[in-house]
Amino acid sequence: MVSKEYLLACFNNDKYIDKSLIYIYVHDKEYYDELYIEGKVDSGARCFLEQYRFKLREIANNTPNASRLLEYENLINEYNSKNKGGLINDYKDVYINLLCPADKTRMRLTKLIKIKLHNSKKRIMPVYICPKCKANYTSVSCYSEKCKIHLEEDVYINLLPIYNSADYKKASSIQVRRLIKGRFYIYDNRKNEKRKNCRNSSCNNNKLKTVSVLFKSKKNKKNIQAVKWCDICKTYYAPYFLTEQFDFPYEIVNEKEVLEIKRERKQQVEEGSDIIKEHPKDNLPSIEAKDFVVRRSIFRCMHNDHSIDDILAWIEVIGKNGNIHYTKVSAGYCATCSIYFILESTYDNLKKQGIPICRISDEKNYLKSGNVGGMMLANESILMQYGYNVGQKEDLSVKTRHKILATLIDRHILRKSEIISYLDFFISQRQSRDMYRLAIAKWELDRDFVESYKEGKYQEVGVKGLYR
Ligand SMILES: [Zn+2]
Ligand SMILES: [Zn+2]
Ligand SMILES: [Zn+2]
Repeated sequence: MVSKEYLLACFNNDKYIDKSLIYIYVHDKEYYDELYIEGKVDSGARCFLEQYRFKLREIANNTPNASRLLEYENLINEYNSKNKGGLINDYKDVYINLLCPADKTRMRLTKLIKIKLHNSKKRIMPVYICPKCKANYTSVSCYSEKCKIHLEEDVYINLLPIYNSADYKKASSIQVRRLIKGRFYIYDNRKNEKRKNCRNSSCNNNKLKTVSVLFKSKKNKKNIQAVKWCDICKTYYAPYFLTEQFDFPYEIVNEKEVLEIKRERKQQVEEGSDIIKEHPKDNLPSIEAKDFVVRRSIFRCMHNDHSIDDILAWIEVIGKNGNIHYTKVSAGYCATCSIYFILESTYDNLKKQGIPICRISDEKNYLKSGNVGGMMLANESILMQYGYNVGQKEDLSVKTRHKILATLIDRHILRKSEIISYLDFFISQRQSRDMYRLAIAKWELDRDFVESYKEGKYQEVGVKGLYR
């Protein structure tokens, strides 16, 4: 909501004694900008003025004095009825703190100055002065990092926020919006949707802008994030996981879709664990294909003096349908040995989902091996450790067996030739025995598959180089 009084009555300023804010905005934008920089313009009023800038100018130029006020009032009414509820677009522009590159001193914004670029476009330039070494800095996104900007007698060194922000490592902009209230369109980040245009039908596919927002999260931490924003309907587009952290009042535009997202997630949790298709975008560690995992009745390293961290980690699993998904497991981690430990019960749950993609050994083999090097040479075949099996008890489908072998090739765990020689070895060992007829048939089939498998055909992301 924005008040008519504030926009239309005499505005408190030094230059135009008996003029309104709208008048100043339309007739002297430069002076208006100065008032704004000095923090004298209310953020709601600023939103209104920016949104109706063309209409306001048109009214000022083409409408006779007598009806002008009425037209302005109509616009304000329209704006207020669209923005009822008052949750829209309430923010304060703030400038992030930067670190002086010379002495790492924290610098606040000192002042804003106006400059004219070569193309005679005006822009506002932030100035930071280091309290310690007194050097002058600025941050203008169109110039490169550390580039020197000469202005009259002074030289300003350009600092980009992404390299120099004091608090927010990934800040993409020096100017951020401190959100107090807001209106949001929420989408499911797990579905990897790209938002480029506003979904609001009255916005005519307006192209969304990227803005940096600063907000307080539930843990009372300050959070900075780049989100998309529609400058017509003043709606932010945010992924679901972000809104779960919001600790300020906000309005949801697509309530129905959000209920659907919530329902889907609840179902996933009830199915036993967080099963997701995309690589999760949180800070939990991932157990990778090359990692050693020992299933044990206890989280303990064979070296008694090694400490074990209790962690929650993502692990990839080849599901029954042959597709790979991520699931969360609790594990122990020995940082000294780089070995993960999972409980037998966790392992049983994983097996219910499919074949975990990592090198799994049991307690017996682990204790026998003596160390990680020993585990690598353990009696157990590496193929077995990765869940490959032709036994009737496990009864893996052809599809699953092939997916395991393809994954080992794609992730550079084993080369094609190595897998073939393992399979050849199994076949030659069991050749004479009739009871292995079925197993041999499976090995032969798999050997043919590996031989004709095009490396990289099912290339997966996350390859971190060779390791064995
Ligand atoms: Zn300094
Ligand atoms: Zn819009
Ligand atoms: Zn250890």
